[in-house]
Amino acid sequence: MTTTHAGPAGPEEAALAAAISPEPDIVTCDACPVLCRIRAGKTGACDRYGNVAGRLTRMDPLTVLVRAPTAVRFAGDDWSGNPIAAKDVFVTAIGAGTTYPDYKPAPFIVGSEVDGVDMVTVVSEGIFSYCGLKIKIDTDRHLGAECAPVRANGEIVGHVTTAEYGSQMLSLGGVHHLTGGSKKEGVATCDTLLALCNGAAVDLSVDGGASVIVKSGAAPIVDGVPEQRMRVGCGSATIGIFASQWLGHADEVIVVDDHITGVLTEHQAGKFLGMRAAGIRVRGRRSTPGRYFQVANPGLGWGGTDIIDPLAIIERIDPKLAWPGLRLLMVSTTGEHSAWFVLDDELAPRPEPMPATISDAVARIGENCEPALCTVLFMAGAGGSLRAGATENPVLLTRAAQRGRARVTSGGAPVYIWPGGGITFMVDVATLPANSFGSVPTPALVAPIEFMLPLADYAALGGHVGRVRRVEDVLAQARPRAVAPPEGVAFPISRATAPPASVAR
Ligand code: SF4
Repeated sequence: MTTTHAGPAGPEEAALAAAISPEPDIVTCDACPVLCRIRAGKTGACDRYGNVAGRLTRMDPLTVLVRAPTAVRFAGDDWSGNPIAAKDVFVTAIGAGTTYPDYKPAPFIVGSEVDGVDMVTVVSEGIFSYCGLKIKIDTDRHLGAECAPVRANGEIVGHVTTAEYGSQMLSLGGVHHLTGGSKKEGVATCDTLLALCNGAAVDLSVDGGASVIVKSGAAPIVDGVPEQRMRVGCGSATIGIFASQWLGHADEVIVVDDHITGVLTEHQAGKFLGMRAAGIRVRGRRSTPGRYFQVANPGLGWGGTDIIDPLAIIERIDPKLAWPGLRLLMVSTTGEHSAWFVLDDELAPRPEPMPATISDAVARIGENCEPALCTVLFMAGAGGSLRAGATENPVLLTRAAQRGRARVTSGGAPVYIWPGGGITFMVDVATLPANSFGSVPTPALVAPIEFMLPLADYAALGGHVGRVRRVEDVLAQARPRAVAPPEGVAFPISRATAPPASVAR
């Protein structure tokens, strides 16, 4: 019984597979190190490959991106060679399959002409043991201390990293969690990465912190509460933005923020407007005039602090400076929390109904906040063995990618390649077609990756030019699924994609 891939299997692969799997109703999948033996009508451990009538088959269709999907006639089984121009279709690695060991040529090495230049796209679903996610969660709320472990299904799958401007970053996965811990930890990590990459919601918990439901492109849900707004800025920035709009309507404004709490009349913005010092001193460490650090502990309350009653951050009120009737607005950096006080004859702040002008000013803060979202970036190292599927001299592919001679995409989506050695790339999972990722039980993630470069350059870097197939032939054989790039993502083939051919160095 021979095994064949959805992609082109050479006679040596078929011979090897036959040698491994002599039973007539079993095919051996050689697309990853697991080497599943698959009975007729069944799929392997990852469900990506199955035994269909004795043939090893990639169960998901090859996915191609098309520039104008309404003009495409090759959907489904009816395709029989149609007039679509090669420059209007891009063969992605989604559903392309993998080759193992890596020195075998990639499943599809596609030749096409773009703007008069012969181009090659090397297409493969990479198996990534070195991969992880960088997740940006737009929230002021304290999710946990920096370096705190992040768990999924009770297993540590990553950690909290830096707090950024209005966002908390998490780092999930990486080779240590995939391979360096228990089998359970590796499986939980792989499952978590896969779910997030494919756009599913995942329930995470931070040791000593909050629980958060994360889904690419959706608002985070922190301890059961959906986040609404991403802060307009820190407390100091909020004052810098809105100070002139508060002038004449409030005598003091304190913007409560876990990082930098702002006090208007002390702040340079208030001074510039000629505001009278109000004499209200907040707790914490004074950084510069009107800017205070550590006014409270981090938490889920006002401005990412643990404050429920904003007056708790007032340390003292100076009777030499403050006056009865002083009007005080306290507000958070999203405008989600706000309170209006007037000092009584003893200079104690008394809550009062908020005037309409102040309500409008608070609403203006909220209006300037962007919706809170989760952003999931997949990061992986493609500088390893998968390069051998593209060329016999892998370092030349690395150089071509680093120098922009070979354009690297993931499912047709643009990637960012880190400077320095290797091909370490990052891609926003929301820019790939739905369900572009898979996994294998080694455990590792499976992600599409494509290298596009001029044919002349490909030959110069030792590419497998004998395995190049015209795009029309690939489309005819593979009967692909045609989709448009996700909204807002540019079609991957453009004039810039096809630089003049030159010899790779
Ligand atoms: S885990 Fe999937 S890719 Fe790996 S051998 Fe089994 S079926 Fe093939």
